[in-house]
Amino acid sequence: MTIFKKIINKEIPANIVHEDDLCLAFYDVTPQAPTHILVIPRKEIRSMAEVTVEDKTLLGHMLLVTTELAKKVGISEEGYRVVINTNQNGGQSVFHLHMHILGGRPLSWPPG
Ligand code: AMP
Repeated sequence: MTIFKKIINKEIPANIVHEDDLCLAFYDVTPQAPTHILVIPRKEIRSMAEVTVEDKTLLGHMLLVTTELAKKVGISEEGYRVVINTNQNGGQSVFHLHMHILGGRPLSWPPG
């Protein structure tokens, strides 16, 4: 079981900022920016490489949640980045799909 599944099951604590029937969002324990939130689906999906057409509504919902959360935590107007690290070259370390919301400082491009 991944650490994120344990957070979904409330077996380990997290600083949760949003929860609904499809997903939850919580602050990253090792923030890479002043604001760093993760949005994860309740459904166990290993990575973005494994989503299917069945997940269309879920993915749209999660993206809308990132938009709402960015507004809620006050980074929307200045700007932020939504990132989905995927598999080894994408730098993924937890194999439960997640969207990073990063903001609160200028973010460089291209990423490392
Ligand atoms: P990734 O490298 O894209 O797979 O991102 C995984 C993220 O999960 C990293 O930014 C970690 O800091 C974060 N993370 C790992 N364990 C926890 C946890 N228990 N609570 C919150 N964030 C976590």
